Amino acid sequence: MKRIILSYIFFLAVVSAQVDTTIVYLGSIDSSIVMDVKYATTNNFVGKVLYPTDKVYMRKIVAEKLSEANRYLRESYNLSIKIFDGYRPLSVQKLMWEILPDPRYVADPSKGSRHNRGAAVDITLIDENGNQIEMGTPYDDFTEKAHYDYEELSDDVKANRKLLRDVMIKFGFEPLETEWWHFDFKGWEKFSILDYQIN
Ligand SMILES: [Zn+2]
Repeated sequence: MKRIILSYIFFLAVVSAQVDTTIVYLGSIDSSIVMDVKYATTNNFVGKVLYPTDKVYMRKIVAEKLSEANRYLRESYNLSIKIFDGYRPLSVQKLMWEILPDPRYVADPSKGSRHNRGAAVDITLIDENGNQIEMGTPYDDFTEKAHYDYEELSDDVKANRKLLRDVMIKFGFEPLETEWWHFDFKGWEKFSILDYQIN
């Protein structure tokens, strides 16, 4: 009997530890986050339209945490999040790799990007008028200037990058040293690589 009770408790613990891993449209969780999806336009580093939609998708838990970070930024700093990319279909990763097969800039699709797991976001901060605050480089600038700790930046830019990083860490994300805009959701490895069709 004791063994049955113990295994039942174990079963409950496993069930309650599971998070909702469905892929959701970010706008269904937080419609106040501005989406600016360069990969749905030709204005990106490959110069081609890669996405059939300019809507951003990601795992539900990731969207919820991003929304919490957004609310905190608005209430504490009068700033909010603008997002460039979230979930990226594996087919798009393969296309990017065909165009630019260089692991310094594009994740090898055989390994997959954390974006392919719906567990990474590319973001910046905007003020109350919707203007991006200064981060030192545009999104997808693949030079050293985009490295978080690049020295030759103004104090304002350094402070802006630090604010974005600190808030994202506070809400469960991990930064990437080479791209100030990229954050992985902590525990990303628990989410599988998907070729979910976005539209
Ligand atoms: Zn990214």
